[in-house]
Amino acid sequence: MFPDRSSASFFQTWFPWLQSWHPPQAKVSVAQLGDPILRQKAQPIEDPTAPWVQALADDLLAQIQTSKGVGIAAPQISQGYRMLVIASHPNDRYPTAPLMEPIVLINPVIVHQASSSVKDWEGCLSVPHMRGLVDRYQWVEVSYHDRQGQPQQQRFEDFVARIFQHEYDHLEGKIFLDRVTQVDDLMTEAEWRSRVLPPAHHPSNG
Ligand SMILES: [Zn+2]
Repeated sequence: MFPDRSSASFFQTWFPWLQSWHPPQAKVSVAQLGDPILRQKAQPIEDPTAPWVQALADDLLAQIQTSKGVGIAAPQISQGYRMLVIASHPNDRYPTAPLMEPIVLINPVIVHQASSSVKDWEGCLSVPHMRGLVDRYQWVEVSYHDRQGQPQQQRFEDFVARIFQHEYDHLEGKIFLDRVTQVDDLMTEAEWRSRVLPPAHHPSNG
């Protein structure tokens, strides 16, 4: 019987040389822990409306969608410039995260911050399969330029403030691991999912 054309055996039988061919794999485009770009201080962006800056914003928005993350900073896609995206949305890691349109922040600066801080779990697209307990200000007030080059000032609270501070750290060459105060506060994501996520549902982490 002639094999089904859609089956792998059809190709193996009639085109054995195809076995050594693999489709090109999507390039890993998020810089991973150990890449020096993650340790460099990012450069200010002089003209937020410049075409390359718009292209960088589009790349960050595309990457965050692909990665299903809640935030990303330009150094994570190997571009050492002061731009970050906050894109909070509920997902399996953060079931109660607020849903918002992604915001692009160019040259962000923290102008005020809460006097109190909150410890909660974080992960990072550049540090796969790890979670760590990190202290962050409960709120921050931030000035930045938007993609149209307009100055903006905005206050972020709770989970969104945490995202902002995590991404801002990337612009300073810092990683959340630097803020984990003891090694006991680190877990693999699998352990974290089974031990922390289901019972806790803590409000700022989801
Ligand atoms: Zn990160």
